Amino acid sequence: MTAAIVVGGGISGIAAAGALATAPRPVDRVAVLDRGRRLGGRMAVRTLRTGPWAGHIVDLGASYFTVGRPEFGAVVDDWLARGLARPWSEEFAVISTDGTLSIHRGPMRFAAPNGLRSLVEDLAAALPAGVAVRTDRNAAWLRRGAVRPWGLDAGPVTSGTSADPGAAAVGVDEHIEADVVALCQPTSQAADLLRESPNDPDLTGLADACARRRYEPLLALVAQWPQRSWEPFPGCFVNGDATIAFIADDGSRRGDGAAVLVAHSTAEFARGYLREPNAAAEPLVAALRRLLDIDEPVAVEVKRWGAARPATDEVGSSDARFLLAPGGVGVAGDAFSQRPRIEAAWLSGRALGTALAALADAS
Ligand SMILES: Cc1cc2nc3c(=O)[nH]c(=O)nc-3n(C[C@H](O)[C@H](O)[C@H](O)COP(=O)(O)OP(=O)(O)OC[C@H]3O[C@@H](n4cnc5c(N)ncnc54)[C@H](O)[C@@H]3O)c2cc1C
Repeated sequence: MTAAIVVGGGISGIAAAGALATAPRPVDRVAVLDRGRRLGGRMAVRTLRTGPWAGHIVDLGASYFTVGRPEFGAVVDDWLARGLARPWSEEFAVISTDGTLSIHRGPMRFAAPNGLRSLVEDLAAALPAGVAVRTDRNAAWLRRGAVRPWGLDAGPVTSGTSADPGAAAVGVDEHIEADVVALCQPTSQAADLLRESPNDPDLTGLADACARRRYEPLLALVAQWPQRSWEPFPGCFVNGDATIAFIADDGSRRGDGAAVLVAHSTAEFARGYLREPNAAAEPLVAALRRLLDIDEPVAVEVKRWGAARPATDEVGSSDARFLLAPGGVGVAGDAFSQRPRIEAAWLSGRALGTALAALADAS
């Protein structure tokens, strides 16, 4: 009987669990733990509670996904066939440094009518019976096990629903052991977990390798208006602005025409507001109004992402899709690609799961 632990129920963790459980010599028991209340990690969704579009769901993290590789394309084709994903647009706007807005053609960007998180939940629902996926479980301490090579102490979290590092552990109320472990979290968070075992050279070596792949923060502003007052555009990249880097028209993305915009800040701007993200609402709204020449929104909220995207100059320095320490602890996610995206995270998790299944079988 072989066993694996997967930390993280974002798309890379669920892909890793799937690969572990469906490998040619599958791992018998796979435990997936996520500290959020729901799966999905940075493919996060929020239902608006107040404002004219209360009840509307918004993608708070990732905006869309693209497809490059046929393996991921097959997964996406299945989502499309079942209506879980839909083509959003091949044309995105760009606001250049002089303020002019132009339309550019690029790859098809796909969205999900029920929010991107629903796609991760769909993958999780299809996992074989030997995989147990649990939320509200914080992985607190990874160390050598008594019965199997690795042991993990885990417990509930006080607050937080997402991949944000703000979630605090209440304590530890379980210990599980496994032959192999997949850490499918941003490398900065994997490094924190690995550093809980400072006397284990395999884990500290892995922590150091993780720490070299830094993540940048981001603030997401969700703003509502009673009705739309801007020229239709799906998404808009903003070049050279100190405050805002990207704007998504969530009504266009969702396909329901809601007058809701989601603006992503620059990393530099976010760094100044990480302790008090709500204080960023005013300057974010001012920048959004300046860029699009629109009225004051009637309802706004700000979501802080402490680790949103890998710093682009530090990713993909090798061809490796994941990190693997001696003894069968690996790290997967979007930090291992020149294009740190949803597809890259899925490919990374799947590759690590496949490699760990072979190791578990050999052990
Ligand atoms: C604002 C924003 C915009 C983005 N836009 C796009 C986009 O348009 N297109 C695109 O392709 N990608 C985009 N991305 C990137 C995309 O979201 C990620 O590449 C992808 O979701 C990464 O998936 P993952 O599973 O590797 O990591 P995550 O989604 O971060 O999942 C990691 C999971 O690990 C859990 N976790 C962390 N620590 C612990 C612990 N100690 N114990 C238990 N669980 C833990 C977290 O709760 C989380 O659910 C964006 C990201 C953000 C934040």
